[in-house]
Amino acid sequence: MSSTQVAGLTKAVHDLSITDNGTKQPKERSNIRPTHKPTSSTSSITKLLSKHAAPHPFSASAGSGTTAGNRIALGPHASSTNLLKKSSQISLKSQIPSPVKVVKKTTPLVDIGKYDGGLEADNVERGEKVYGDAAKELALDSSYGKPQHVEWRLTSFDIGRPLGKGKFGRVYMVRTKCEPHYILALKTLYKSEIVQSKVEKQIRREIEIQQNLRHPHVLRLYGYFHDEKRIFLMLEFAGKGELYKQLHKAGSFSERRSSRYIAQMTDALRYLHSKHVIHRDIKPENLLIGINGELKIGDFGWSVHAPGNRRTTLCGTLDYLPPEMVEGRDHSEKVDLWALGVLTYEFLCGVPPFEDMSGYNATYKRIAKVDLKIPPHVSAEARDLITKLLQYNPEKRLALDKVAVHPWIVKYQPRGHSNGDTA
Ligand code: AMP
Repeated sequence: MSSTQVAGLTKAVHDLSITDNGTKQPKERSNIRPTHKPTSSTSSITKLLSKHAAPHPFSASAGSGTTAGNRIALGPHASSTNLLKKSSQISLKSQIPSPVKVVKKTTPLVDIGKYDGGLEADNVERGEKVYGDAAKELALDSSYGKPQHVEWRLTSFDIGRPLGKGKFGRVYMVRTKCEPHYILALKTLYKSEIVQSKVEKQIRREIEIQQNLRHPHVLRLYGYFHDEKRIFLMLEFAGKGELYKQLHKAGSFSERRSSRYIAQMTDALRYLHSKHVIHRDIKPENLLIGINGELKIGDFGWSVHAPGNRRTTLCGTLDYLPPEMVEGRDHSEKVDLWALGVLTYEFLCGVPPFEDMSGYNATYKRIAKVDLKIPPHVSAEARDLITKLLQYNPEKRLALDKVAVHPWIVKYQPRGHSNGDTA
């Protein structure tokens, strides 16, 4: 697959307004995530955010049609090589006597890799049908209520390589069968497992929030649909995968790379806060990397949409919790500023600042005391930013507008402030 092709298509998909949802999966490190109450209603969020929706480019036939012939949508033999052979150009033998040969051009297909048959295998092995209120709660389909709706279903896509496994199902690289063959990540969530984990409301909330967000550093959720057992999320494809894996591999990031990521996070958080969305679960595991190396916030499982609300619920990953949450006090959007400070530290040092191997209590104590020790290899400018973000008093934390113009951020901004490759 050419990265330029994917980038082009991925960018093209940015202009879509399908609709959708998203989900949260636990990652490897210690996550303490007690439940918290949902708040916002779909309508209030939609009202607030719908002005940011992009126009819908698909025709009503998008879910069923294909211009490139008899593609196999599913099954282990749905190799993209065959698809590529079939599609690139279709010459039409002219029935009209004409000296000019008519050539119909179709969009060249991007290689999506080989499908492993995992969706069918999973569907047999896991997932029971869900009934009653839970079934209603999870009957999520973004095509309803749209004037010019497209009914998405699994057969609307060619399925490619597996991208990963989450708690509730697998994620695949897919391509829409309809022109212009958009590339997406299709995430499956097994309804019965969602119900077992008692996160129906959280999943719904994630959908409500993510479906209306439009920002280059926030993973787009283009649409969603469901069948008896599963919910499918049509997500923006993050071509370079998980940031956490890259950090793990590298040990830590350079000052330049860290600064650029933090600049992008700051931009995304400014956008989210302007929409009264508090993320509350910023950490490397929830960040993905786009095809051009740009950072994408990819998880909204713990966000709340609550203008003016301050809540006392404990949530988020232990290492990223601010003192006010550790101490069970009310909190606000300033929790994300604290997490930004923790993230800056972890990028530069490879470990979060208050991690304590002797246990959760020790970590809690270190957070509550703001027991911060920054290693000497960290530059004075970065140290200054971390210290200004990791303030016990939420009101004293450096505001996002100021983070954006902090010397450590400005120093590494690429010319023409492109959010390009940070590697
Ligand atoms: P999740 O269920 O979100 O934890 O996803 C499981 C794995 O699939 C992740 O660890 C990623 O490696 C991969 N993945 C999830 N969403 C995407 C995406 N939008 N683009 C690329 N890879 C993804």
